[in-house]
Amino acid sequence: MENIGYYNGTFAPIEQLKIPALDRGVYFGDGVYEALRVERHRFFALKEHLTRFRDSLTFMHIAFPMTDEALTAILQEAADRVDSDSQQLYFQVTRGTAIRTHAFPEEVQANLMIFSRGVPLADLQEYRRVVVLPDTRWGHCNIKSLNLIPSVLAAQTAKERGCSEAVFHKDGIVSECSSSNLLLLKDGILRTAPSDERILPGVTRAHFLMIAREIGVTVDESTFTLEEMQDADELMITSTSAHGLPVGFVDDKPVCGRDAALLRRLQKAYRDYFWSCIDANE
Ligand code: PMP
Repeated sequence: MENIGYYNGTFAPIEQLKIPALDRGVYFGDGVYEALRVERHRFFALKEHLTRFRDSLTFMHIAFPMTDEALTAILQEAADRVDSDSQQLYFQVTRGTAIRTHAFPEEVQANLMIFSRGVPLADLQEYRRVVVLPDTRWGHCNIKSLNLIPSVLAAQTAKERGCSEAVFHKDGIVSECSSSNLLLLKDGILRTAPSDERILPGVTRAHFLMIAREIGVTVDESTFTLEEMQDADELMITSTSAHGLPVGFVDDKPVCGRDAALLRRLQKAYRDYFWSCIDANE
């Protein structure tokens, strides 16, 4: 099949999937989600995604009794139903289905929804454009909540301005992008904002930093300013499907391109690692 959807035990093509209007995800965005890569029907870093998923559930006080093993079996079945060898699989769990009142309903059961479809990995050659916007998100960006309106609006602004991403800042301090992390290279050092409540702890970010250290690159997890971003030798975007996407323009100003050799080395080391993990998941 071209794509698959799943909701509480029922599989259907995404376009035909139906869910109840009283799912609290519909009217409160009261749930959490994950998005991961599936290559040749094998998951990349599933364990890390499940750990972050459980952290998000705990923060939101959502009870999801299904074990990781049972959940993994359903995710695998979803991926197996899609023909594509290169998929992006999304799943979300909402608090449950109930009449709309803000406080948690009594005796509610969590809802699991999955989408998977063919999405190619991003091409890493071409330098991209980003737009800088104020970070108006909530104070728990480390939690993968369904409430993404500031990110949705920022992504739309980026699109309207011909950009691939929006970079968020608060009072001149750069946090991350609307749906990815931002890393910079300066004088051979790889720098990115620390993993706190101002950013999502990207699974790709963590693996990228690990691989950088392994190939001898110094990593500095400390905040940086908009000026430091503009003055970077290279800027890179990481997310599940963007493995070090180079940035060449910030708000239409040309930036970077001053340490392409190291940028390309990092991209290659990460992609080699990524494929070795997929190969090992026999
Ligand atoms: N930051 C934000 C705000 C995101 O939405 C994402 C993608 N989910 C990321 C960073 C990158 O995370 P990952 O590498 O786990 O895809």
